[in-house]
Amino acid sequence: MSKLALVPTPIGNLEDITLRSIRYLKECDSIFAEDTRVTRKLLAHLQIDKKVLPFHAHNEHKALESALRELKNSELTVLVSDAGTPGISDPGFLLVRAALEEQIPVECLPGPTAFIPALVASGFPCDRFVFEGFLPHKKGRQTKLKELSTEERTLVLYESPHRLQKCLEQLVEFFGAERKICVAREISKFFEEFVRGTTQEVLQHFLKNEPKGEIVVVIEGAPKPEKVTGNKYKDKTQDND
Ligand code: SAM
Repeated sequence: MSKLALVPTPIGNLEDITLRSIRYLKECDSIFAEDTRVTRKLLAHLQIDKKVLPFHAHNEHKALESALRELKNSELTVLVSDAGTPGISDPGFLLVRAALEEQIPVECLPGPTAFIPALVASGFPCDRFVFEGFLPHKKGRQTKLKELSTEERTLVLYESPHRLQKCLEQLVEFFGAERKICVAREISKFFEEFVRGTTQEVLQHFLKNEPKGEIVVVIEGAPKPEKVTGNKYKDKTQDND
């Protein structure tokens, strides 16, 4: 019986890999990896010697066929990305769908992913939230920002350091200078930092301190529109309660 397992890998601190993830990496027949060099480094650290095959964003469609063949001929095939949980702003979804269509069971182990610690430590409500991943870089970006500016749930975005200042300027423009945000940088690494404040304050911080490393932007939801109470067409003289 074949199985596909998605195994999350550390987003910084190597101690964050789970015992079960290590066991799956040891026991599997082969590992599909976003970047085989990155995965081989992790495997070397864990002292695991395993067949590693490429499965990255540029070949995800093409690689499906050979990946399915490998899956069917093996008991346990693992998919990993460079960091975090495969499928979350990383390749994975197409292989999961294809495996399920072929009646191959799919399992995703719980483990590291960047947006959960950013969201939970942001201090914004995390019982409901919207994860948008990377916003479009150019086409459709402004329309998306406009659409998201009225979202009442906490918003989570991934952003690259060289686009952060531009992103913060756009948040001031579309969400207003007073909207509260939290920029989580280098989670679980030596220089981990959470910068909290209004869009304007956080922009000022990163204009003075050049953004470096990996970044998650968490945005407080828009305030609920004020409710119109009572019947505004009702004649006031009729009010007797
Ligand atoms: N699959 C990953 C996950 O589960 O979070 C995400 C992969 S995506 C290609 C990479 C983005 O995730 C980075 O650009 C950054 O926005 C975010 N990220 C990854 N590691 C991070 C970290 N240690 N601190 C903050 N953000 C991180």
